[in-house]
Amino acid sequence: MTIYQNLIAGEWVGSDATENINPSNTKEVVGLYANGSATDTKAAIAAAKAAFPAWSRSGIWERHVILKKAGDEIMARKDELGALLAREEGKTLPEAIGETIRASQIFEFFAGEALRLAGEIIPSVRPNIGVEITRDPLGVIGIITPWNFPIAIPAWKIAPALCYGNTVVFKPAELVPGCSWAIVDILHRAGLPKGVLNLVMGKGSVVGQAMLDSPDLAGITFTGSTGTGKRVAVASLEHNRKFQLEMGGKNPMVVLDDADLTVAVEAAANSGFFSTGQRCTASSRLIVTEGIHDKFVAALTEKLKTLVVDDAMKPTTHIGPVVDERQLKTDTDYIEIGKKEGAKLAFGGELVTRETPGFYLQPTLFTEATNQMRISREEIFGPVVSLIRVKDYDEALATANDTPFGLSAGIATTSLKHATHFKRNVEAGMVMVNLPTAGVDFHVPFGGRKGSSYGPREQGKYAAEFYTTVKTSYTLA
Ligand code: NDP
Repeated sequence: MTIYQNLIAGEWVGSDATENINPSNTKEVVGLYANGSATDTKAAIAAAKAAFPAWSRSGIWERHVILKKAGDEIMARKDELGALLAREEGKTLPEAIGETIRASQIFEFFAGEALRLAGEIIPSVRPNIGVEITRDPLGVIGIITPWNFPIAIPAWKIAPALCYGNTVVFKPAELVPGCSWAIVDILHRAGLPKGVLNLVMGKGSVVGQAMLDSPDLAGITFTGSTGTGKRVAVASLEHNRKFQLEMGGKNPMVVLDDADLTVAVEAAANSGFFSTGQRCTASSRLIVTEGIHDKFVAALTEKLKTLVVDDAMKPTTHIGPVVDERQLKTDTDYIEIGKKEGAKLAFGGELVTRETPGFYLQPTLFTEATNQMRISREEIFGPVVSLIRVKDYDEALATANDTPFGLSAGIATTSLKHATHFKRNVEAGMVMVNLPTAGVDFHVPFGGRKGSSYGPREQGKYAAEFYTTVKTSYTLA
């Protein structure tokens, strides 16, 4: 079997490899991917450092052309790359193709941003002096990504890093190296100079840690768990380096008495269970007012009965497998915790067997949960949702905000007054009205507050806040 190698200083290297396993069929090896070492990581950082002076001064047209080519190739290969994504991560094929299209759109967006780089010229408060405000690239950016969006998250970090003139060392999650390898290959062939983008696949504890320990990374952008995020923060402070963290969520979706029941059920089913609940923006807490509670539980349960859990590649599948055995154990452990805590298992909770050996779990709904239970406070990151009954809107808002997280929040209501109040007062980086909490545009800011995020927002033109540093120049006329 071919080994998909690491890209260091423009060369494909590495003979030690790890199997990439399909969670829908654990007998299937998707591919063999290089298992990088700390030495490889240091070499990649050195290569990115050497490439930085030239790339930081490269023309904006060169950057535009390379990013555009990458976006175009990803779009042209969306079905093939989507299938690779579905096979390595377990998202259904339509979800995986949708994510691939989004990655392409992100490259197209930043191809455009490269042509829109601008500064400001403003008068000085002193006579005969001009002031210019410009944005410089940071230097070498370390990119560390999680397994749940194997192509979109790498795209939304790599594209702005390169657009603004930085060089990159990129470490994808060990579970899903396939899509990362593919986009690095595409960018390499699109004409990136040697060393501008380096790929080091391998373990977080080895490759990731070597990145954290390096004094030569000017910035690290990280998406993943809160625990690893804290390590990134501490190590970055040690090296006086800029860092950006996108971490967990326990996103609330409030359903009010006046909600359109169909809209509310569709939004809750989508954001609670699609992509196997493995989205940082998933609504894992449904907060439902008394008047609609029973109707909503009955309708959502009916909906869950129709959702087919099966191989991600089958056209009839709505929910693919859990990503791996470790995550499946986390999910089933939390299901036991929920039962012990006294929540009512209203639907699911069982493993299911399919034609192929995979990590198949029913969508699981707990009702009569309280916001104090562990299943309502801790991120599970699986298809397991707590439903909390509340008296009225005020209690719903207070419950929504009573969490250490603050990524996304939703409300299902036909009341303009409550929708407006919720948008203003919910403590989250993103708010959805009558929409799932997951599912966002690629050209506007993405991120949260409280324990979910740290540092500037990602995506859209707001990405410049992280990937550049502002310079103010004064000139005597
Ligand atoms: P992890 O924190 O386990 O891993 C994230 C990345 O960090 C992986 O590439 C991992 O490598 C790497 N890593 C692990 N240990 C270290 C280390 N010591 N030093 C440096 N890097 C390390 O998260 P998961 O991959 O399990 O992702 C799931 C989490 O991501 C969830 O909590 C979810 O909410 C969050 N997430 C947040 C998003 C957001 O935007 N807010 C979006 C998507 C996910 P490896 O896996 O190879 O060991």
